[in-house]
Amino acid sequence: MMSDHDINIQADPDWTDILGIENDLSTEEILVKKTAHDYASQKLFPIVTDAFKNEIFDKSIIKELGELGLIAPTISSKYGGAELNNVCHGLIAYEIERVDSGYRSAMSVQSSLVIHPINEFGSDKQKNKYIPELIKGNLIGCFGLTEPDHGSDPSSMQTTAKKVDGGWKISGTKTWITNAPIADIAIIWAKTDENILKGFILDRNQHNIETKKIEGKFSLRTSETGEIHMNEIFVSDDYLLPGVSGFKGPFSCLNKARYGIAWGTIGSAEFCWHSAREYALNRKQFNRPIASNQLIQKDLVDFQTQITLGKLAVLKLGREMDKRNINPAAISMMKRNNCKIALDIARRSRDILGGNGISIDYHIIRHLLNLETVNTYEGTANIHTLILGRSQTGIQAFS
Ligand SMILES: Cc1cc2nc3c(=O)[nH]c(=O)nc-3n(C[C@H](O)[C@H](O)[C@H](O)COP(=O)(O)OP(=O)(O)OC[C@H]3O[C@@H](n4cnc5c(N)ncnc54)[C@H](O)[C@@H]3O)c2cc1C
Repeated sequence: MMSDHDINIQADPDWTDILGIENDLSTEEILVKKTAHDYASQKLFPIVTDAFKNEIFDKSIIKELGELGLIAPTISSKYGGAELNNVCHGLIAYEIERVDSGYRSAMSVQSSLVIHPINEFGSDKQKNKYIPELIKGNLIGCFGLTEPDHGSDPSSMQTTAKKVDGGWKISGTKTWITNAPIADIAIIWAKTDENILKGFILDRNQHNIETKKIEGKFSLRTSETGEIHMNEIFVSDDYLLPGVSGFKGPFSCLNKARYGIAWGTIGSAEFCWHSAREYALNRKQFNRPIASNQLIQKDLVDFQTQITLGKLAVLKLGREMDKRNINPAAISMMKRNNCKIALDIARRSRDILGGNGISIDYHIIRHLLNLETVNTYEGTANIHTLILGRSQTGIQAFS
């Protein structure tokens, strides 16, 4: 009797998408995904190794993404947006992060943490002045919430906005701010004398913001990160975001960005899985491909399963977000889960490549290093655990 071992079986043609998840995408979503895929693979992939080695972020990337309609894709056409749905937003993050989490970070900050708050909470004047230029990538923005002594607990922040005649005086230090060294504008969160959180637009043309690049990161090296120092910077009332007070301001931005991360990490994990599979099929040890070993096949099967489930769930999340205001805990669940599985898949893929796995030429170590940050920023895994724990028990376990 012939067993499976005797037949030279080909891989199933649908091994990359065994549940047919992509069949659920609309024609428009497929087109947007392809646009992002082509840009990422043709323009970003060829430069990423050099950019990562040398800590380079080329500002023209934001402009090129803008020209393709990939920045803040859900924004109204009134401000130059593509008026796409949340699923399209996610697919763009997935394709860009398939190449590098640093590029996706720079893009996400621009879309979700800078354009989104101006769109949601800004005055008409602020929207007309900034959103069209940010969407085109003519201006670059950053988002300053984290401080040297306050990361997971931004409610204890020390940056202050003191009310003075005609405006505000802002003082404080923000750190670990993506895009800060190259930003034209910064969305800064600060507390008033009444201990109320407010958001401000600081414009490098108008305000004396000092930014300092953080050197020597071993993660997200293709995106610039910096500190922002503010010493009694006067901003007129025109630069206050009038539509929000309190932490729902920054948290609404973070939820939008966390949703993008939940998609992006699947892109990164999928790159690692496909690379590991191909390597395992070609690499021979003990006179046969290492993919012939059950232990290696188990890894590949775990990757396929986790990625399929993660992708399906984030597509469902996007579909729900397109219909209604979703419970933010659902976004926490997907950010936490997809970062976790992506890190695990990147680590185990690295192992499948053996010694070559640590070489930048095979890209997996770069993804792995990047994912360490992605797991930490926009709420660490622990913080999302506490958000979800509170959601199902009603008990705050943060402090
Ligand atoms: C490359 C990079 C880019 C970033 N970009 C931005 C940006 O653009 N804008 C911005 O505002 N911030 C940004 N951040 C900051 C990021 O959001 C913070 O690093 C993150 O929120 C964690 O804060 P922290 O580093 O101060 O760690 P901490 O808050 O000090 O946490 C340290 C550890 O303690 C754990 N912990 C803390 N509290 C609890 C608790 N109650 N229970 C259990 N565990 C707990 C955490 O989970 C973590 O493991 C960036 C960070 C990096 C590394």
